[in-house]
Amino acid sequence: MFRIGIGHDTHRLATGRQLVLGGVLVESEYGAEGHSDADALAHAVADAILGALCEGDLGVHFPDRDPQWKDADSLDLLARVMWLAKGRGWRVVNLDATVMLERPRLRPYVQEMRDKLAQTLCVDVGCVSVKAKTGEGLDAVGRSEAVTVQAVILLTRA
Ligand SMILES: [Zn+2]
Repeated sequence: MFRIGIGHDTHRLATGRQLVLGGVLVESEYGAEGHSDADALAHAVADAILGALCEGDLGVHFPDRDPQWKDADSLDLLARVMWLAKGRGWRVVNLDATVMLERPRLRPYVQEMRDKLAQTLCVDVGCVSVKAKTGEGLDAVGRSEAVTVQAVILLTRA
């Protein structure tokens, strides 16, 4: 028995904010705006799990009106979503994610992102893929106005 889920997240980029992706602090002139730490990778993965569980989206579980989640560590939110999945009797088979960011190049950070996500999702790092793309100078990503992440996750009965 399998369940598949898709997640998508976009955050506006701004000066004076940190850029956190997959729990990894990325050195960047722009950071991501948001109520929590605005970790678009962690959010997209959490949304993919919630999608596989037919449990709505991250905003349902962690409303951005709730001060409890202000500047929240999104890996902690992801861990909470993972507990929900485990509680329902599911575990992760594999994750594939694409991060779209114009700069900086994310390749030096990808291994650490995979390690942190694998730890949070309780899977081997070999089951966690993070790919980095630019916007080729086009659209909001290409103009360094946004970071966008797509994620697909497969769950199976624990
Ligand atoms: Zn988000």
